[in-house]
Amino acid sequence: MNLIFLGPPGVGKGTQAKHICEYYNILHLSTGDILRNEIKNASKIGLTAKSFIDKGALVPDNVLLDLIDARLNKHDAQSGYILDGFPRTIAQAEGLNNLMSEKSHHLDAVISLTADEEELINRLIKRGKDSGRSDDTPTIIKQRQKVYWEQTSPLIDYYIKKNVLLEIDGLGTVPEIRDRIVLAISSNA
Ligand code: AMP
Repeated sequence: MNLIFLGPPGVGKGTQAKHICEYYNILHLSTGDILRNEIKNASKIGLTAKSFIDKGALVPDNVLLDLIDARLNKHDAQSGYILDGFPRTIAQAEGLNNLMSEKSHHLDAVISLTADEEELINRLIKRGKDSGRSDDTPTIIKQRQKVYWEQTSPLIDYYIKKNVLLEIDGLGTVPEIRDRIVLAISSNA
């Protein structure tokens, strides 16, 4: 099973993606984690990515598409995955369509987690106090929300038109939300 997780920063996408990967025994691919790891290793990609991440801006589409292309070719990605934080633009989504069809990977569903914007900002400010992430400061958090609404939220309509979007209420406890996602996926199968 291959899934995409979509949602504004702070909605709990990463936490839920981890749970759902464990539940279905599939691979968790978070582009944010991959990029942070590249930064830690001071690679060429990491150096490019850092300047964008620290501003709360998106890293260029071609960087992400090359990264995902290489990652999806690996052996461990052939029996199911969740893309967490990718795609984030229409250009990435179009690129992903091409990559997946080249590899004969089928997209089963796009999980769109929703929540009130103010609640999200509060959660992120709280997370910033213990995450140590350089982009979890109030100014950058607001910028990341803005980027989401401008550049990523058009993907909701894009995937509705493709008939693969499952919208899930992201407010509640972690197990409650996980159960909602599992139910939506199994009803959709
Ligand atoms: P995340 O951990 O998903 O919140 O990602 C942290 C940061 O990494 C984002 O604010 C972007 O700067 C960058 N990033 C992660 N995924 C992507 C993507 N698909 N396209 C562009 N930039 C990304």
